Amino acid sequence: MNNFNWDTSFRVDLDLKSGFSKNAVTTKRYLSQMKNMFCDTDAAAKILEDSDPLIYEFHELGCPERAGDLAFGTTILYPGTIGDEYYMTKGHFHTILDTAEVYYTLGGEGYMVMENPEGDTLEIPLRTGEAIYVPRRYAHRSVNTGDKPLVMFFTFAADAGHDYGTIETKGYHKLIVKKGNKPVVTDNPRWKQGADA
Ligand code: MN
Repeated sequence: MNNFNWDTSFRVDLDLKSGFSKNAVTTKRYLSQMKNMFCDTDAAAKILEDSDPLIYEFHELGCPERAGDLAFGTTILYPGTIGDEYYMTKGHFHTILDTAEVYYTLGGEGYMVMENPEGDTLEIPLRTGEAIYVPRRYAHRSVNTGDKPLVMFFTFAADAGHDYGTIETKGYHKLIVKKGNKPVVTDNPRWKQGADA
């Protein structure tokens, strides 16, 4: 773990072509850690009999969770499907709901799938060279609909906090599935109403 001085300026080599950085703290998410988040749990279980594929990883710089700072880093989401559902990140709300986030797509293609607590949803394509604004109050999950890694730079308010539990419990309203080799937005048949579901 590197300790950057967040009270003075610093430079960091993010090696933006691949999204990797030797200066970052890496978190890896394997299928076994999110097997119940994919709609087709049977397909996930079958894959896990033989292997535990890496779904995505993200690289952070250890920004202190202080108001006023901006955390940033990169995410690499690998290509693949579980059943007909594309590889995706877990997705989360920010604990401080009124905090936004910016993603910039460095490589690959996909979707940013968003929803607010009222159930309004947004499914916005991610394309290399484009930035996307994730508005305040929207949970966000990225989905890789291409055949190459989806590599993104992100930055958000450092004190925003992460609430993964709500999505893990209830799921998303919408899924991005592969139909005839094309991504299609569908309703999630497993979406659960109510926090206790
Ligand atoms: Mn976020």
